[in-house]
Amino acid sequence: MALFQLLLAFGLGLAPFQAPKSRHVVHAPPPELGVQSAPSDFVDDFDDSGDEPSLGTIDVSKGYVDVTFVAEGYAGTKGMAQFLSDAKTYREYLLTYEPFRSNANAFRFHAVENEESLGCGRAASIPRLITCDVSKAKRAAKKAGVPFDKIVVIVNDADYGGSGGEISVTYNGRRGDRVFVHEFGHSFGRLKDEYVAYDGDGEIDGKPHANCFAGKPPASEWDGTREADYRLGCTYRNWYRSSPGSLMLTLDETYFNEVSKQLLKRAIDAYSGR
Ligand SMILES: [Zn+2]
Repeated sequence: MALFQLLLAFGLGLAPFQAPKSRHVVHAPPPELGVQSAPSDFVDDFDDSGDEPSLGTIDVSKGYVDVTFVAEGYAGTKGMAQFLSDAKTYREYLLTYEPFRSNANAFRFHAVENEESLGCGRAASIPRLITCDVSKAKRAAKKAGVPFDKIVVIVNDADYGGSGGEISVTYNGRRGDRVFVHEFGHSFGRLKDEYVAYDGDGEIDGKPHANCFAGKPPASEWDGTREADYRLGCTYRNWYRSSPGSLMLTLDETYFNEVSKQLLKRAIDAYSGR
């Protein structure tokens, strides 16, 4: 298996972070066409009961966040050239977003030219939800000998879709770059969707749930965000998001709001140990 290092050299051969297996949270990308409220007949497709799973035991000794792209469905030399090009494009696109841009030196990116099937597929009732076999994706990265904190599978498929859970999955069509960053927000920052994903109300416990708030604003736990522009609708219709728009609401907005930026920065610090 060929291996292409997009940035720096190999890691130090330390054991990569293993997320706890008990959690299974997978989020779909936002509905297409800028629709902000999704029909939620797909609740059974993923279990969203695991609120804010812990970051687990993280190997911080590397001093970097290792983001590892793994190919799915790119066969042959031409296919792999496309994969490497896609991975490079996505890396550069991620680094146009804060807080990634100003913390770019905390990241290392790797690309695994995997040719074996990772068992990726679309959910029957919500075709935009593409998931892959997490253990196969990890095995491909390990086989290639690259460290990884977060794996991002790029599926060679022009049709919209992806998912964000323990690993991120994205397609490589027109908005694949935005889907990737949205899903990476889920997988890396444990961010929630800011669009309404369910018909039913969420539990009101007066607490923030990552970037959503299940109480009466303002959320005192959100530091320095008194000026937050609270809007109803954040995973649940009765939870608040902290801004009118954001990439976690719709792919039409190409930024993370302040609350999400803080959570992402916290994740960068935790994973890199800086
Ligand atoms: Zn999402």
